[in-house]
Amino acid sequence: MSLHASDVLVSGAGFAGLATAFWLDRLGYRVTVAEIAPGLRHGGTPVDIEGEALAVTARMGLLDAVRDKALPPRRVEFLGADGGTLGLMPAQSDIRDEKHEIHRDDLLDILFAAVDGRVRTLFGRTIIALEETDQGVTATFDNGHRHEFALVFGCDGNRSNTRRLTFGENDVSLFMGGYFAIKVVPTVKFLPANVTQILSVAGRAVLLNGYSDRTDIGAVFRAPHPLEHDHRDRAWQRRVLQERFAGLGWQVPALLRELVADDSFYFDSINQIRMPAWSRGRVALVGDAGYCVSPVAGFGGSMALIGAAHLGEALAAHPGDHAAAFAAYEQGLRPLVTRVQDKAVARGMSFMFPATDIELERRNMAISDGSFDL
Ligand SMILES: Cc1cc2nc3c(=O)[nH]c(=O)nc-3n(C[C@H](O)[C@H](O)[C@H](O)COP(=O)(O)OP(=O)(O)OC[C@H]3O[C@@H](n4cnc5c(N)ncnc54)[C@H](O)[C@@H]3O)c2cc1C
Repeated sequence: MSLHASDVLVSGAGFAGLATAFWLDRLGYRVTVAEIAPGLRHGGTPVDIEGEALAVTARMGLLDAVRDKALPPRRVEFLGADGGTLGLMPAQSDIRDEKHEIHRDDLLDILFAAVDGRVRTLFGRTIIALEETDQGVTATFDNGHRHEFALVFGCDGNRSNTRRLTFGENDVSLFMGGYFAIKVVPTVKFLPANVTQILSVAGRAVLLNGYSDRTDIGAVFRAPHPLEHDHRDRAWQRRVLQERFAGLGWQVPALLRELVADDSFYFDSINQIRMPAWSRGRVALVGDAGYCVSPVAGFGGSMALIGAAHLGEALAAHPGDHAAAFAAYEQGLRPLVTRVQDKAVARGMSFMFPATDIELERRNMAISDGSFDL
């Protein structure tokens, strides 16, 4: 198929992909979004919208929609192996700085509503080859169709397909020493609403977020090195979770059963993506695909929104010159990415998810003396 100068392709319909599609559409591009899942990939823990992400949301005209879905403040309870409470962080609402916590699903739906009907969305579709030509990039899709695009944006997450097709198999992942699984279940039987409970033993943690209509069940386990596996192998993920969490008391056996009961749980390593460059030729990466900050940073959703906005600004400032735009995008955003990534590494897994009894004791002391900060 022939090239239309403003045809662009976005791979992935998460926060990064939908926000990138939003800005590209506003800039007048004809946008196609290819998402491998059959629909939006719901699930996951809530996202904090504050600071620059709040300003970006406002610029997108979505702040009222975010405010409408904002969750009430939550109390956090730290539990020992037997489920007994070790410490509490009371629910706080800070009225000085606007900050919202919103379900990942709600933000995904808000972003999708903002582009639905304006961009072409291909669900259940992925790119299998990208070939750069003089004027564009020819993308081959998994149904055999080929189309030439002026620009391609890889917004396909931590294990980005676009990154692999463009930059090769180079290992750009910094493993932080653990894995996590998360599932949202439509039940309220495990804990009261607006409460988070974190049960920690050395090397393992189980996290529950209670809401009025659902519960997030999270499980984290530590591993000194990446475990050999195919990251799509659900049977392996299920088995490793069951093995790692065997023998724990409290509600853990019931929670584990619920977590792995079907394939809707999200499972990934806890890692960062650190790349020397976020673009090559006419292909640029946005969000986790280019600069995953890790779940420990608690900033992945915000970073995707901020990254897409920086990219949009850079393209607006350099019309017709994608090389200059991609350079400006990277120059503008890299200091923030580096700061957030370095902070997550410095704060360390040992504090959030202690691997040994000594680390656990240190973390428990921080909870007792009030110096622990989520
Ligand atoms: C279901 C789910 C649950 C999550 N839960 C948590 C959580 O609890 N805590 C946390 O810290 N982070 C979680 N994350 C990651 C978090 O969403 C991101 O760190 C952050 O929002 C940045 O978003 P992103 O759009 O860059 O990446 P992602 O949110 O990972 O979105 C990437 C999108 O690309 C799609 N995709 C992947 N491969 C391809 C392909 N080959 N072709 C086309 N599309 C593709 C994916 O299906 C997904 O829709 C979750 C991600 C997902 C998908």
